[in-house]
Amino acid sequence: MTSIEQNLQQVRQRISTAAGQCGRGPQEITLLAVSKTKPASAVAEAAAAGQRCFGENYVQEGVDKIQALADPCLVWHFIGPLQSNKSRLVAEHFDWCHTVDRLRIATRLNEQRPEDAQPLNVLIQVNISDEHSKSGITLAELPALAQAVALLPRLRLRGLMAIPAPETEYDRQLAVCRQMAAAFEQLQKDYPGVDTLSLGMSDDMDAAIAAGSTMVRIGTAIFGARDYASRQ
Ligand SMILES: *Cc1c(COP(=O)(O)O)cnc(C)c1O
Repeated sequence: MTSIEQNLQQVRQRISTAAGQCGRGPQEITLLAVSKTKPASAVAEAAAAGQRCFGENYVQEGVDKIQALADPCLVWHFIGPLQSNKSRLVAEHFDWCHTVDRLRIATRLNEQRPEDAQPLNVLIQVNISDEHSKSGITLAELPALAQAVALLPRLRLRGLMAIPAPETEYDRQLAVCRQMAAAFEQLQKDYPGVDTLSLGMSDDMDAAIAAGSTMVRIGTAIFGARDYASRQ
């Protein structure tokens, strides 16, 4: 067994345990393997071990891997900050975008999504606790942006995403995750297609699952530490 395969098994086990502890089934939580900075060969290894969903932060790096693997079974999620001048590549190559936080970027993705592709699945990014981050909207801004995004025919509004500020105490992680879960439940009432709360990374995965996350984004625990120096 390769180390990526072993790591995947351990992460899946952690998800099952966390889900079981709060009376949820492991199939309610999708594992998104975050492969940023890792080579296509590492993604291929994870795919051979049954992993289907991959998350990328850098547009061109992600497109290169999507094209290198050319595997129609894989589902590609863009999870990095999105600049307007890169939106076309996301619209043309990815299946999901987690970081929609302004109407202007949503409108561009809608216009640029190819006719022959399924609508692009989008999540609205909420800045739930990190006042230093420029990404994400406030909860007060959510209803208006959700309403506008839901009207765009080449996008499919699937839910919310957040990257809470790092916090070591479980109870404080849980409090922030519960705020996101409450916003998600409200959004589900307003939009029947909403089914995804992208919340939880290696360090706050258990709290996120307890609060109701449906998708955890895990990189290091699957692929090992990242070497940013090797990025071009
Ligand atoms: C890098 C990244 C992750 C994964 O982080 P790890 O600490 O490697 O598990 C998850 N979500 C986002 C948005 C990221 O940028």
